[in-house]
Amino acid sequence: MFRCGLKGKFKKDFQLKKDKLYHTDIAIVGDEVLFDVNRDGTGIIHTINPRRNYLSRKAPKIRGSSYRGERLEQIVAANIDNFFIITSVAEPPFNNKVVDRFIVAGESSHLNVIIIFNKIDLDENNLIDSWAKLYESIGYKVLKTSIIGNERLDELKNLCTGKINIFWGQSGVGKSSLLNKIFPALDLETGSVSGSTDKGLHTTVTSVQLKVDKDTFVIDTPGIREIDPFGIRKEDLCHYFLEFEKYSSDCKFNTCTHNHEPGCKVTEAVENNQITSERYESYLRILETIEEDIIF
Ligand code: GDP
Ligand code: ZN
Repeated sequence: MFRCGLKGKFKKDFQLKKDKLYHTDIAIVGDEVLFDVNRDGTGIIHTINPRRNYLSRKAPKIRGSSYRGERLEQIVAANIDNFFIITSVAEPPFNNKVVDRFIVAGESSHLNVIIIFNKIDLDENNLIDSWAKLYESIGYKVLKTSIIGNERLDELKNLCTGKINIFWGQSGVGKSSLLNKIFPALDLETGSVSGSTDKGLHTTVTSVQLKVDKDTFVIDTPGIREIDPFGIRKEDLCHYFLEFEKYSSDCKFNTCTHNHEPGCKVTEAVENNQITSERYESYLRILETIEEDIIF
């Protein structure tokens, strides 16, 4: 483990671009970097390799950082193999709107999205099944897990092994519990009921990439719970609702946002139950939030 600083050139570049700054960080968790080792054993990063992919979001509003209501892009983590969206069937109750928002974040960042329904031991009447089937029908890998009885945990572990993984989900859904079960050495704190909200940018809560073995990692991003996808244009949102694609390409207008434009094949598919109203409502809700986004 080397404690590294950044070579001055990065900071200078960053300073120069300040008034058209898009990103809030130079090197971020998951980055592959090259560095020189100083005599005292610390390092100086001189190269940041191109990112294969990265998860980003609109940075929380901080004083002085934005003008005219514009928002910066905050890169949360880079070079991610698996983006696990963790939900629970109860405690907290399943919320499909949250899942759909996370899917948009994952898809727009070109990540491999896997959906976990945890705490299925609490789902006596199999109420979650129809949701699981919906996401499977869209093409997502879905696992129904439980730390009580270790349901599907071997499979979860296999999916994670040899990869760089990120577990994303609301507080209390069981992210830390699942990780501790499959990789006990991580020894993460569980059941914290602090209810702390998003910590914003400039706090000491740092994201870390935890090493499980030579080539298995888990990125932990404490303090970042919300992810408001960054830089999506209205007419592009439908690309991240994968089952819409089949219909959206036939809409009358190629700028169709599938809201109330005439000749919209997506709204027609919703009426014909080819697209579920639940997914369509999620879509409309996210579409509303895109209004105030940065125009590039
Ligand atoms: P995190 O905030 O997503 O990391 O959630 P935690 O791992 O801290 O878990 C929150 C609570 O849910 C803890 O009290 C866990 O014991 C509990 N929990 C986690 N997984 C399961 C599960 O599969 N079934 C049940 N019944 N409880 C679980
Ligand atoms: Zn349309």
